[in-house]
Amino acid sequence: MEEDGRECLQCGSLLAGSSDKRFCSDQCRAAAGNKRKFKDEREQLMRSINVMLQKNRHILRQASPQGKITIRRQVLQVSGFGFRHFTHLYRTQGGNNYHFYYGYLLLPEEKVLIFN
Ligand SMILES: [Zn+2]
Repeated sequence: MEEDGRECLQCGSLLAGSSDKRFCSDQCRAAAGNKRKFKDEREQLMRSINVMLQKNRHILRQASPQGKITIRRQVLQVSGFGFRHFTHLYRTQGGNNYHFYYGYLLLPEEKVLIFN
């Protein structure tokens, strides 16, 4: 048996045989494939969340050029605003949740108050 000094990309064990081999076994090949697929899906999810957050920020900036405004919730909805996608959350002592979208704070009423 001849070893060419290369290692399995998944487990690091030495590879023997044909020089185009990258994994020592079918298990390692499958494990590496799953890992890559999971990583791709995670990155795709992060990208799509970032896109939605940017879109939200854009909509809020357009809606509140003066920095503070009260508008109907529906106006944001029509613009495609995604209420579920916020950057952080503030819980008041009274138990209310305030959602932040980057520098914007939205007070969750029928009419929303936007602070910048
Ligand atoms: Zn291996």
